[in-house]
Amino acid sequence: MQLTVLGKSPAWQDADGACSGYLLRDGDTTVLLDCGNGIFGKLRKFVDYVDVDAVVISHLHADHFIDLVPYSYALIHAPRQQPVPVPPWPGTDSPARPRLVAPPGAAKTFRQVVGAWGNDELIEQAFDLEEYAVDSVIEVGTLRFSFALMPHFIDAYAVSVTSSNGGGRLAFGSDSRPAQELVDFARGADLFLVEATLPRPERTGVRGHLTAEEAGDHGRQAGAGRVVLTHISDELDQADAGRRAAEAFGGPVEVAREGAVYEI
Ligand SMILES: [Zn+2]
Repeated sequence: MQLTVLGKSPAWQDADGACSGYLLRDGDTTVLLDCGNGIFGKLRKFVDYVDVDAVVISHLHADHFIDLVPYSYALIHAPRQQPVPVPPWPGTDSPARPRLVAPPGAAKTFRQVVGAWGNDELIEQAFDLEEYAVDSVIEVGTLRFSFALMPHFIDAYAVSVTSSNGGGRLAFGSDSRPAQELVDFARGADLFLVEATLPRPERTGVRGHLTAEEAGDHGRQAGAGRVVLTHISDELDQADAGRRAAEAFGGPVEVAREGAVYEI
């Protein structure tokens, strides 16, 4: 499978950037993993949004799902999605309605968000919504998704992806505080895509994120093949974060860049 980084920012976008979003392509299968702020526009640079088979959401923080709102408006209102011709579009009897594979409680959260302006059903009308459980195995075309619950400020689901076409396993850690669960989840992954939000551990309150060193150390404990840092602001020194993570990992570590492509 091929992973393209569409956005790697934390909860606020980099200059001209986007929050969490990764395009997975495997033969004819196209999946968007997370759909944070700015991702819909980035997605359109790489694929036609009506050709996405499924969107998979790791957890219900805005920076991981909020661009489902513009994506939904596109699916409902775009000229080429209408039953009648809207030049230059011919009209269609079968408008695209991608699957939306989202965490437990997603339907309620989505209704609350778009319900704020009285459009409760927007996301469910646009997408074929299904909520996964932590032990679900979801197949989309040739790709197979499974999940693991991570300790974060809310329930966050790390997402494991493999392909029936062969290749390796992608382990996307979602958001997480330092945790044995994350090591267990990432064990033996060929590519461990892991958040490195923090310049240093949170000084107060419950922890929810990782530093670059912690991300690298989790990769080392898991025996991951490659480690790629993500969910990191352009206001931090990317090269320095990569160096610190590499030291903890015991090998080279990359920092995700928008548009970067990984073969897994
Ligand atoms: Zn989060």
